[in-house]
Amino acid sequence: MFYEGKAKKLYSTSDPGLVIQYFKDDATAFNAKKRGTIEEKGVMNNRMSELFFNLLERNGVRTHFVRRLNDREMLCRRLDIIPVEIVVRNIVAGSMAKRLGREEGEPLKHPLVEYYYKSDPLDDPLIYPEHAIEFGWATAGEIEKIRTMALKVDEVLSRFLDERGVLLVDFKLEFGRHQGEILLGDEICPDTCRFWDKQTRQKLDKDRFRRDLGGVEEAYHEMLRRVET
Ligand code: UDP
Repeated sequence: MFYEGKAKKLYSTSDPGLVIQYFKDDATAFNAKKRGTIEEKGVMNNRMSELFFNLLERNGVRTHFVRRLNDREMLCRRLDIIPVEIVVRNIVAGSMAKRLGREEGEPLKHPLVEYYYKSDPLDDPLIYPEHAIEFGWATAGEIEKIRTMALKVDEVLSRFLDERGVLLVDFKLEFGRHQGEILLGDEICPDTCRFWDKQTRQKLDKDRFRRDLGGVEEAYHEMLRRVET
């Protein structure tokens, strides 16, 4: 093991270009001020991430995903992670609703891309892409590429989920460099996305844990059921 984060562990392999990503059941929110466990979350997030990465690859988005190894582990290309979290939003929710005093649920006319500096001590502050370029976290070319890829992810996932009765409200992505190429990394699951049922607007994601709404495991199971069919 060479890295342990809040929800995952990373292991190196005999191939320096490949790593194993292990999914834990640990759940945190508000920069780890709230902690808990979501039963079988690791298994569900591993499976859902596999499904989304495969879907994205079929649609021309290059990702770090190689293959799922077992219930909790996937084989990935090793990335030099760019310390900028990309959030794409289709509907107002979460920190954006709070920061700008907007009602949660307001649809956005166009997908909105935001950039956050990945730093626990600073609480992942919102930045302009220019900050990332200025401080050498990414080049202007990389930022442009990442923005294009993030919008493509939004387009592909939104369509796929819409067909399954789910609204893709917003989500967070991480990117990294691998052999000179920018790849989508991390995971795509109810920990990192907001999913709302299209009919009832019921939350099917980690907000159930963040806001103590109950039915957390059930929501993750329901999302997996929808994307597997
Ligand atoms: N998100 C994430 N990790 C973070 C912050 C946000 O995966 O450290 C995801 C979150 O699940 C949501 C989207 O990014 O789908 C936008 O989150 P927001 O900025 O609204 O922050 P939050 O309300 O989660 O604090």
